[in-house]
Amino acid sequence: MIHIELISALSDNYIYLLHNDKQNITAVIDPGEADPVIKVLKAKNWNLDQIINTHHHHDHTGGNSKLKKIYKSQLIAPLYEKDRISDIDIFVSDGDTISIAGADSKAIHTPGHTLGHVCFYIPEEKYLFSGDTMFYLGCGRVFEGTMEEMWNSLLKLKLLPDDTTVYCGHEYTLSNAKFSIHIDPNNQLLKQAYNNINNKRNEGLPTIPFLLGDEKKINPFLRANENSFASSIGLNLSSPSEIFKSIRTQKDNF
Ligand code: ZN
Ligand code: FE
Repeated sequence: MIHIELISALSDNYIYLLHNDKQNITAVIDPGEADPVIKVLKAKNWNLDQIINTHHHHDHTGGNSKLKKIYKSQLIAPLYEKDRISDIDIFVSDGDTISIAGADSKAIHTPGHTLGHVCFYIPEEKYLFSGDTMFYLGCGRVFEGTMEEMWNSLLKLKLLPDDTTVYCGHEYTLSNAKFSIHIDPNNQLLKQAYNNINNKRNEGLPTIPFLLGDEKKINPFLRANENSFASSIGLNLSSPSEIFKSIRTQKDNF
């Protein structure tokens, strides 16, 4: 059984510390900075065995070298990002199974935000670490890949079970929720989610994690292949990747 500590970092990043009590193994996902991670490790009296990166951006890797130096951790990162992340010990490619904090985890290559972005799914716990590919009610900006690649990446995540718990890289939920309501104003489930999100943010609480099954019904970026969704939000397009592209472009200018 894996226990997850959510650590807020930088302005709106989340770093996840995974601890396996039985085997006493600890892993960190996307340490954008080292100090807040060290603070929790000290308080818990844990060593840091593994560092995992979803992609090369500094707000996900900035703490790598300091943590590695102190804890002699193993750095696991996408093979596709080998030229952008230094000192990788174990490379992962699409479909690889690696052990994270003692649990089998599947690497899912999700190009779009960056070309080499990888998400990690732990089937035993139904946990998905979605990095900057999928956010609560949103998705990452398409910086390096094409809109079509990003759409296909989101489709891969959409295939995971409804009871998957998703941990994403940023607290962007409130602004994503505002955009989602703007383009899909008649979605009652979305309105409910928006109220919950608002309450949490007003109390200064994280909105993460969230459930993938709910997300399939309320995240507009996941719904581009759904019958009649495009027309319900006023888009006269038939190909899912074109619909996705239109929604992503609207969000970029929102
Ligand atoms: Zn990023
Ligand atoms: Fe990021």
